[in-house]
Amino acid sequence: MKSLATLALLATAAFAQAPATSKTFDMYFLDTEGGHAVLYVTPTGQSLLDDVGSAGERDHDRIMAALKDAGIKELDYLVLSHYHSDHVGGFDALLKDIPVKHFIDHGTAHPTDKNVVVGFEKRYSEIVGDKRVTVKPGDKIPVTGINAVVVTSHGKVLKTPIPGAAALGAGKPNSACATFEPRDESTVDPDNGNSVGILFNFGKFRTINLGDYTWNAEKELMCPNNPIGSVDLFLTSHHGVDASNSPALVHGLRPRVIVMHNGQRKGGAVQTFNTMYTSPLLEDIWQLHWAFGGGTENNAPGRFIANVEEPAALANAILAPPGGGRGPGGPPPTAAAPAPGATPISGAGPARGGGRGGRHEGPAFWIKVSAKADGSFTVTNTRNQFTKSYAAK
Ligand SMILES: [Zn+2]
Repeated sequence: MKSLATLALLATAAFAQAPATSKTFDMYFLDTEGGHAVLYVTPTGQSLLDDVGSAGERDHDRIMAALKDAGIKELDYLVLSHYHSDHVGGFDALLKDIPVKHFIDHGTAHPTDKNVVVGFEKRYSEIVGDKRVTVKPGDKIPVTGINAVVVTSHGKVLKTPIPGAAALGAGKPNSACATFEPRDESTVDPDNGNSVGILFNFGKFRTINLGDYTWNAEKELMCPNNPIGSVDLFLTSHHGVDASNSPALVHGLRPRVIVMHNGQRKGGAVQTFNTMYTSPLLEDIWQLHWAFGGGTENNAPGRFIANVEEPAALANAILAPPGGGRGPGGPPPTAAAPAPGATPISGAGPARGGGRGGRHEGPAFWIKVSAKADGSFTVTNTRNQFTKSYAAK
């Protein structure tokens, strides 16, 4: 295993470059059907892929399509946030198709977690050898063109405020902690709390990715003082499920824009939407899927949603009267029945816009974000090419 110090010599040069470029810091939020894979491409052309989705060609094809779109022929960094199958399942397929220079992880898998991919961490270690770097909070990943700081890893959190971010609230008390209510997390897979979480800074632009960090651990990170300050773009933790994304985290980070990497039936619960919509500076929510859990009252307008599958079930959810048509003594809910005239689902569709559907419900689309060093950024839905720009503040 390589130490981060070996890579750190590169870092000084990397940070010096960040604000002086007119190029953008690009992010591809990939649809892995409720899994996790985000590609970051820095203004200097370096690449960092955070997780690889689930095993099988569906997610792999989508990741390769994004790498192709970004012109990446060799990955500089692959981060494995933790060892669940929806995060590391595509590992072997990725390594077959593209060289990877450095691997970042949180260390040994949680010993009592029943959902870590059996034997994965040992096998991974053998395959990558000294290209593996285990990180701890406060470490900087020496990817060039941006400043990437580890804020969580292996159950530990950053406690020293991010330097230079006091004006954004870093190091200040987090008022959203006052109403924090701890959860019983005895049924939550503990390797989630080991997730490598990274704060990405490019000039004035800031975004964060905490993997599958969970509710109680969010308090450890964000309370009583917020070590991070505000961010421009928040990727929901843990696919937008309500076992994560506490107000202490979301309201403490005060994002302008949230991208939720939900599946159509994973993440996007009403509670998560409520927390997001009440976040103090929120302008928009973008979603990788229409979320059946959120219903028509909560999902973002269609133009902000990258993937809308199961058209028949969706049409029925929209057309069904509130409460599924059930009054006292009324008929049972009919949510599974297709609406008249709804288009049947026809399996895999053509490659289009970004990624393809493989063997599942149809084409898949990513959400792309391009940020400038002045803090402005643009978000694009590749399904409908809807683009919205957020001005520098
Ligand atoms: Zn997950």
